[in-house]
Amino acid sequence: MVRTETGFSLYRAHLHDSWVDSGGAEHDDEGFGLYDLTVENGRIASITPSVAASEGAENDLRRRVVLPALIDCHTHLDKGHIWPRRPNPDGSFPGALGAVLADRSANWSAEDVEARMEFALKCAYAYGTKAIRTHLDSLPPQETISWPVFEKVRERWKGRIDLQGACLFGIDTGRDEAWFQTLVQRVRQAGGVLGAVTFMVPDIEQLLDMIFRAAIENDLPLDFHADETDALEAVSLRLIAEAAKRNGYEGRILIGHCCSLARQPDDEVLRTLDAVADCNISVVSLPMCNMFLQDRRSDNTTPRWRGVTLLHEMKARGINVCVASDNTRDPFYAYGDLDMIEVYRMATRIIQFDHPVADWPKAALSNPAKAMGLSEDCGRLVEGGPADFLICEGRSWTEILSRPESGRIVVRDGKVIDRALPSYEELDHLME
Ligand SMILES: [Zn+2]
Repeated sequence: MVRTETGFSLYRAHLHDSWVDSGGAEHDDEGFGLYDLTVENGRIASITPSVAASEGAENDLRRRVVLPALIDCHTHLDKGHIWPRRPNPDGSFPGALGAVLADRSANWSAEDVEARMEFALKCAYAYGTKAIRTHLDSLPPQETISWPVFEKVRERWKGRIDLQGACLFGIDTGRDEAWFQTLVQRVRQAGGVLGAVTFMVPDIEQLLDMIFRAAIENDLPLDFHADETDALEAVSLRLIAEAAKRNGYEGRILIGHCCSLARQPDDEVLRTLDAVADCNISVVSLPMCNMFLQDRRSDNTTPRWRGVTLLHEMKARGINVCVASDNTRDPFYAYGDLDMIEVYRMATRIIQFDHPVADWPKAALSNPAKAMGLSEDCGRLVEGGPADFLICEGRSWTEILSRPESGRIVVRDGKVIDRALPSYEELDHLME
């Protein structure tokens, strides 16, 4: 049994070399080594290789894996869980856009948005997530409703989930520059991230320049939804990288989706990867949402591609790559519960984060932490850092990734938390 009170605890567990600084433990073929991890006053006091012959640890976890608390860098808490009242009519991307627009106009009061955000955060926390970035639909008048709710919820969850908000609007809406500048100030005052959806409008470069100028003037990080389509002509990922260079922007940029890149010819791919690798750009793939929406065919034929971007090629170039949840139970993705272990499991299968696993686990841990600008100890296990981790049921990758890990234990600040998930009934009153 794991002790729940504060004070001193000693865990003997399997740690992976992608989330612990190599402390000299012998690693197996999968990268796991056996370590003794001591926790004192809510922090990790020491991490040392286990000496097999030494006295057994107080909490010998029998080679169960201890995983750092999870980081989810791309979500939509404001859209979450509306599926029962507004399903996607045909499972397509345009179907999702239309359904969300209708639901937002009809139902997204402060109370509605807050209740669904709260529900989603309870789920994420119970699964062991400690930091989340959410996009917030910011088309008028929704920005005046959702941002104050976000700030209130962020404050309420402080210490449990570190919450970041990024505004979201179609880049063409930015043509109304007066409205755009008001939104920039709202985002700045809320300590948020400046974000937009980019697609191939004729004036995309001018609009990107306007966004980069605003980010520089207001010292804001950037976050884009780019090229969530199979269209070969969608190259906004490259245009964002070129705009970053052109404007001399040196802050953090996170770019999600980039689906079309996987469909483009090699010379276009290389040109884009060169431009991206030359900037402070992180890329996040949203494998579950991409599998759901991309290549869905209206003639009931079978999808022929996976929808995800070229993470292997990006990683090989040193680009900071991540995976994240994206939507949960809304018209963009009918499923999901903000469980980053599920995301990593699905990513392993869809994007092949195996043979070898190497340091792919970073894509759900320290890489998103870096993309979000979190402290160095996030997504890793570090001596002196907070004792925020998951004790998995599994002792190896195949054990962790084969079952849902529903019996995982979540430790935050050295204490085991209550992992009860909220009942869906809590949202029934909003679904009429
Ligand atoms: Zn998204």
